Amino acid sequence: ERKAALAASTGPGQTSDGHRVPLLANVGGPADVPAAVEAGAEGVGLFRTEFLFLDDSTKAPSEEAQVTAYRKVLEAFPEGRVVVRVLDAGADKPLDFLTPGDEPNPALGVRGLRSLLEHPDVLQTQLRSLAKAAEGLPVHLEVMAPMVADRVDAKAFADACREAGLNAKFGAMVEIPSAALRARSILQEVEFLSLGTNDLSQYAFAADRQVGSLARLQDGWQPALLDLIAMAAEAAQTAGRSCGVCGEAAADPVLACVLTGLGVTSLSMGASAIPYVRATLATYTLAQCRRAAAAARAADTAEEARAAAHQVLSGE
Ligand code: PEP
Ligand code: MG
Repeated sequence: ERKAALAASTGPGQTSDGHRVPLLANVGGPADVPAAVEAGAEGVGLFRTEFLFLDDSTKAPSEEAQVTAYRKVLEAFPEGRVVVRVLDAGADKPLDFLTPGDEPNPALGVRGLRSLLEHPDVLQTQLRSLAKAAEGLPVHLEVMAPMVADRVDAKAFADACREAGLNAKFGAMVEIPSAALRARSILQEVEFLSLGTNDLSQYAFAADRQVGSLARLQDGWQPALLDLIAMAAEAAQTAGRSCGVCGEAAADPVLACVLTGLGVTSLSMGASAIPYVRATLATYTLAQCRRAAAAARAADTAEEARAAAHQVLSGE
């Protein structure tokens, strides 16, 4: 039955009653594109651009090298959405030329957008490369910044995009709890939100994502994480803007239904998860997803939230 459901799993992401939730792929570079196309991804929801920078940690890649790499990904989804995240260096991905070597607590230090605002030349080169890469293509380019903490960060990023002459939507990742709490304020400066649930749980629970023994706190079903997601999704809905999820949480098929019920507007994940999420989402109505989301939020632990959502979805 499972196999039949997966085989029948083609086409756009939607609930059984036709509520559309685009299913997008997370990619780390051109090499990941074939699997995304094969899985029927409707676009890219998170293009992690770090790969280009990790080869040589002493300097940024040339504008030319960046244009070539970005264009390969943009070309693969001619009519689709491609959401590119600007360089997220620091913490677990340090770069010699950007990341201070003497930080006592790198996860809470100069990383993500913070590094780029200290090195505006690096950000400008990347944004100009993206503008050139998208030239003449019908792709819907969206560009977002990692580690946006507040409206000041969001404005600095939007200003940089305008300065680079980028013809794209500008967005903010919500991966710091302050950004979820003040999503409405951040949306005064940028057009869309994307929830990075990996870092959002790390910072909400003060639990280093690289420490395996803290897995209980990094569970995507934690009700406090669901509350933060709901807060951001509701703010986006009120503002008429999109709010996707591009962290690991989107790759769990039942959690994907709960996220849909919380008001998330697209789901981005590793390509291999797309058929499972598509098949599961197609099984339930939007109203069922909402009831499952409410049941999960009413729970006190991740385990209970998972059980409550499964019970709602299987009992109807
Ligand atoms: C996240 O934090 O959830 C995310 C998508 O970004 P990364 O895993 O690359 O930090
Ligand atoms: Mg992150």
